[in-house]
Amino acid sequence: MPQKLTSLEERAIRLLLKHQKKGLLQSELWHKLGVTSREGSRIAIKLEKKGMIKRVKEFAKDRWTRRLIPLIREVTIEHIRGAPCLSCEYEHICGKEGKIKPENCTKLENWVLESYRSSSKKSSKK
Ligand code: SF4
Repeated sequence: MPQKLTSLEERAIRLLLKHQKKGLLQSELWHKLGVTSREGSRIAIKLEKKGMIKRVKEFAKDRWTRRLIPLIREVTIEHIRGAPCLSCEYEHICGKEGKIKPENCTKLENWVLESYRSSSKKSSKK
């Protein structure tokens, strides 16, 4: 079931998702949100209880503080763009218990292999 967030919690998580790898120091987040440290701490504790972030103790700017690291990821449809299932004529009979099973589908297999090849080419050019 999706977690209900207050608008401030939602803004906080959106800001943190922009810093997925390293997260933000809590003071940086409070500043960006325009809230007091007390209000900000409450938000961080709530997000941690909901399993959306972790609060990691860190010594920064001459004092102990917390770094807030998101545990969730932003989901985009980029990785399934062009997948054959999205416009497949057999979609209604395809599935784990269906007449057609995805694990035996050559259209899907070819698309996965082609996607893998093109992503390998892109990463070798970097
Ligand atoms: S797995 Fe194959 S048959 Fe099933 S919906 Fe995808 S493309 Fe169609």
